[in-house]
Amino acid sequence: MEVFGSSGTRGVANEELTPGFVLRVAKAAGTAWGVERVAVGRDTRRTGRMLADAASSGLASVGVDVDRVGIVPTPAAQLYAEREDVPAMVITASHNPPQYNGVKLVGSDGVELAIAELERVEDVLLGEAFATARWDETGRAREVDGVRRRYVEGALEALDRDRIAAADLTVALDPGHGAGSLTSPEFFRELGCRVVTVNAQADGRFPGRDPEPVSGNLADLGRLVRASGADVGIAHDGDADRAIFFDESGSYVEGDAALAALAAAELEAGDTTVSAVNVSQRLVDVVTDAGAEIELTPIGSTNIITRIRELEGEGRRVPIAGEGNGGIFFPAYRLSRDGAFTAGKFLELVADRSVSELVAPYDGYANVRHNVEYGSTAERDAMLDAAANHAKESDAELNTRDGYRLDHGDAWVLARPSGTEPLVRVYAEARDRGRAEELAGSMHDALLEAKASV
Ligand code: MG
Repeated sequence: MEVFGSSGTRGVANEELTPGFVLRVAKAAGTAWGVERVAVGRDTRRTGRMLADAASSGLASVGVDVDRVGIVPTPAAQLYAEREDVPAMVITASHNPPQYNGVKLVGSDGVELAIAELERVEDVLLGEAFATARWDETGRAREVDGVRRRYVEGALEALDRDRIAAADLTVALDPGHGAGSLTSPEFFRELGCRVVTVNAQADGRFPGRDPEPVSGNLADLGRLVRASGADVGIAHDGDADRAIFFDESGSYVEGDAALAALAAAELEAGDTTVSAVNVSQRLVDVVTDAGAEIELTPIGSTNIITRIRELEGEGRRVPIAGEGNGGIFFPAYRLSRDGAFTAGKFLELVADRSVSELVAPYDGYANVRHNVEYGSTAERDAMLDAAANHAKESDAELNTRDGYRLDHGDAWVLARPSGTEPLVRVYAEARDRGRAEELAGSMHDALLEAKASV
């Protein structure tokens, strides 16, 4: 795919991602879908309204009516799509910095489009094979209210509200000026929690922090947890499909540790979970302890969704899936990442014990990373051949879905070319730092030797 990556298409607004481009994507999607009606939503970005207008115009020009659902978390747009049985275009750049924007395409089942469907849209776009309507058959737009409220109610109904309310929790919330600013405060209040907030005004310039919920951007939340005596801190990304947590002392909880804690509560013997090839040993250990199985896909939510569907089609139970960046699926609820719902599931566990107790079993894993730059494709290819040979010589279980991942049972190492930079990345993880360093070091040495021989 040239236009759509594994998470839609993104770029600096008005430079790479122009209204003209979004208009053409909308015409292509409207043509490929061949439906009467499409929903258009957006996150809080400064350029969101401009690009949502372009999307609406493009859809109307190929004869499609438009439901303008306004500023909504991506999972809220997905719920609307599913309930109304219409596809959706969401104008969002998720966790990217403020100057970015993007387009995410959602099917009428409320699920992000699969790769094959994105390719159909791309074919129309690149071939400019738009089904342009005659003037009296162009589409009409209407504003739809209440989409955020219906999303909040849907998530509330799917959680154990009594259990959470009985625990009398204080939640410190940082929605990062994103779409979750308009839904998560009321969501956690209606779960029976006391809610204190920071960066909770919807503001597309993101004055308080960047949209990515990584620890370096979340110092305010740590302080708020300590100042308010909160039981838990919760942060979202710009479109609120991710949740990241802080413990009761105001310390950042690794996304992989939160995923492992949630998975430990969900997985039973015989279940399967799906994650990406850079999955943490923490989740591998949880899966082993539960007598469950884990399937690893290339990095990117589209790949995880595709694999969940295949497994469910084979009759396998997949109660939880996702990545350590806070993007987690509970497929029995819905096949979309949902920051508020994920946090609700986490609160069900926090109702019984403190966050630090909950994640303690998943603390203390050591991660080691190396990057090796290359100056030519010959160097890159030599390094990947070396990774393949290194894998052959090892007795670890090999996964080649996205680079070379070697699972040793107690630890793993992955060599994978970066998707965006001229680098081969080496990752390793183990409970013991020496073990992780040894595995990463021997892969790193093999790559350096191969590069030097070119
Ligand atoms: Mg997101």
